[in-house]
Amino acid sequence: MRLRDALATVPAYVPGQPPPQPEGLIPYKLSSNENPYPPLPGVLRAIEKAAGEVHRYPDASNRALIEAIAASLALPPDMIAVGPGSSGVLTQLVTALAGAGDEIVFAWRSFEMYPIMAGLAGATGVRVPLDADGRHQLDAMRAAITDRTRMLVLCTPNNPTGPAIHAGELTAFLDAVPASLPVIVDEAYAEFNRDPQAPDMLALLARYPNIVLCRTFSKAYGLAGLRVGYAIAHPVLAEAVRRTCAPFSVSIVAQAAAIASLAAADELTERVAALVAERERVIAALGAQGWQLPQTQANFVWFPLGERTGEFVRACEAQALAVRPFAGEGVRVTIGEVEANDRLIALAGRLAPTTTG
Ligand SMILES: *Cc1c(COP(=O)(O)O)cnc(C)c1O
Repeated sequence: MRLRDALATVPAYVPGQPPPQPEGLIPYKLSSNENPYPPLPGVLRAIEKAAGEVHRYPDASNRALIEAIAASLALPPDMIAVGPGSSGVLTQLVTALAGAGDEIVFAWRSFEMYPIMAGLAGATGVRVPLDADGRHQLDAMRAAITDRTRMLVLCTPNNPTGPAIHAGELTAFLDAVPASLPVIVDEAYAEFNRDPQAPDMLALLARYPNIVLCRTFSKAYGLAGLRVGYAIAHPVLAEAVRRTCAPFSVSIVAQAAAIASLAAADELTERVAALVAERERVIAALGAQGWQLPQTQANFVWFPLGERTGEFVRACEAQALAVRPFAGEGVRVTIGEVEANDRLIALAGRLAPTTTG
């Protein structure tokens, strides 16, 4: 049997681990940036109703879902394409844009799917280091463009460090990048972003048709288990994302749940606001303990621990908290249930790098 060489070189995706279970403590999973809230009753009802139809294939054109997303954004449906999670949409974009010998430029460290997607396509992932504050260095990313570059990927807020890209730096970047080069903006955490300097992405999309926005129902909308994401782009790029989607890959249940979630946007927005308030509470407590962390705009915090990564992870495990370590670099911890966040604050206080008091 002969597998493509690309498979041997592609790193495996590391999913967030389930929590350890020390006795007497309720375990919490803070390792995958999931939403701690279960589905809303109305969304559950839509899921149950759709479950009764699964002997049929879903609508391959995802028409009702695309129309619902388009209406929620006040955009025409031909600017929307969906896929099985935004990881699916990102993979569709790579299929549409890059192949063997091509280059895909992204920041590093960022979402670990990017090198996997590039590698599976036989393309070269060009990693441009983040700065010391965990932010994209957009000038360096522009300088990394060669005549082999087929797409760039920006992640804002950035997973796993948290900061959002600012309007001024982004427009300067877009002005300098060739207008024919697609710039993918992965906005998996857009709904959590409260940075006053964040750009209005839809306004930018109207001005720069090479932008592709990728969004997901997995994080703020709490549908990670159902796999729905979407792209917002110029109709030519949106059509490319539709054509590279494996047929029927967004299930009947997923389509129904996403449509019901859009209809419940007000309730879901309240949940997101509560999570943002929890994030700010956690950040303030960690700051008071002496932690100097990147300014997160997502539903997680990043501890740049370097050599102390293992020690921190063991302390989390002893408290029945699953977190996401990156060996030798740091730990990403999702903002979860209030009790879980309290436990994080308590253990971080014992491990704080400096004592201020
Ligand atoms: C979670 C995440 C996604 C995608 O998640 P899906 O569940 O595939 O929609 C995409 N990008 C980033 C940066 C993420 O953190």
